[in-house]
Amino acid sequence: MAMLKSTPKRVLVTEDVESIAFLMKRVLEKAGFQTDVAFDGEQCLEKVASFKPDLVVMDIMMPRIHGLAALRRIKADPATSAIGVIICTAKTYKPDEEQALTDGAFAVVAKPLKPEELLAKVREYFQLASAEGKVVVSQTETGTVAYMPPTAAGEARVRIWGTRGSIPVSGNRYARYGGNTSCATIERGDDLVILDAGSGIRDLGFELARKGPSRIHLFIGHTHWDHIQGFPFFVPAFIPGFEIVLYAAPGFGKDLESIFRGQLDSDYFPVQLEDMRAKLEFKQLTEGPVNVGGLKVHWEFTQHPGATLGFKVETGDKSICYITDNEFLKGYLGHPLAAEADEAALAPYRKLIDFVSGSDIFFGEAQYTNKEYADKIGWGHSSLSNACLLAKLCKLRDWVIVHHDPQNGDETLEENLNQVRRIATEIGYKGQIRLGYDGITEYLG
Ligand SMILES: [Zn+2]
Ligand SMILES: [Zn+2]
Repeated sequence: MAMLKSTPKRVLVTEDVESIAFLMKRVLEKAGFQTDVAFDGEQCLEKVASFKPDLVVMDIMMPRIHGLAALRRIKADPATSAIGVIICTAKTYKPDEEQALTDGAFAVVAKPLKPEELLAKVREYFQLASAEGKVVVSQTETGTVAYMPPTAAGEARVRIWGTRGSIPVSGNRYARYGGNTSCATIERGDDLVILDAGSGIRDLGFELARKGPSRIHLFIGHTHWDHIQGFPFFVPAFIPGFEIVLYAAPGFGKDLESIFRGQLDSDYFPVQLEDMRAKLEFKQLTEGPVNVGGLKVHWEFTQHPGATLGFKVETGDKSICYITDNEFLKGYLGHPLAAEADEAALAPYRKLIDFVSGSDIFFGEAQYTNKEYADKIGWGHSSLSNACLLAKLCKLRDWVIVHHDPQNGDETLEENLNQVRRIATEIGYKGQIRLGYDGITEYLG
């Protein structure tokens, strides 16, 4: 293989029987691979760090650290997770093989291994390697190998579970963009942040319940119905072992716990807050960002009745901004370029503009045409053209429109999207604009 001649690939052989280890080393070196040897699991992990192999060929039954444990450690560390692992074992039990493949092994081969079989497997691995030498492969049910694109270590996943404002809707008119009210998740590894508990949180609850008890961090932008109405149907709240931390800004009236207790009053719902078996903690957001593992949650007040927050979640060098309810340039019905030139008109919004600026992805509203907005000034939502100016001022690259008006079916939303795109062209906003829908998912590497 030409690729091997130009850049010798590095293979670490891990095998506790010395004679077999050196035989494997010889075979691989003769075939052009740069090779090193480790004699137990502990040494294997040390050499993974120092020798930096592209591939580890590993025995499963080894002293000190078992082969499967070493495999798991290699795959769990973002610095080494891209290294391929071929497991060799004399102990060919199906559950062990399945476990090794689930844990990320490229292949499991039976010992004793003939030199040509070893070489064939190692070459198969490198044939699938991408230009960067990273490969992610998965074993199909028939045991053949299927190429899968690499996943970046530390990648975050954003998912919107509910994109509707005000009230859930259903029916043919809403088939494309969905009818659940506000809920979003941002995940990175085992860290999870939930934003809002509208009806979209119900489906999320089933998924979390399947995974088993965990500590959940739920941030409520504000306590209007469309941001809390799904909580009584959030299954983890009823399962012992789950811990749910609820965060919100100090409101102007009741505290968060009283509001949630009120929502579950026996006049409105058959079970009450006391019937929820998860451990619930209510926290006020008063100062500084909240760290949830590798996710950092910032917040800022928006222009909306009551104490309403928008969120920005930082993960690595990426940031995701989520602002569902915001009346930007309250009462303004004119041309966005005229507003852009009016420093005094923009001054009250400067803090929010700075907060949103530079987000890698922005989930934000654009609810009314200017004609509709004329009758809805003070309802706490932006016109299409004012929202578009906000996107321009924040120099957004990717704006996903969410918090759709329940009046607007799929066709109206697409009509409005076209209007927003025309306004964007006119005012010189160059980022991407698209409509969010229930289930939209994005990965940020
Ligand atoms: Zn809302
Ligand atoms: Zn609201």
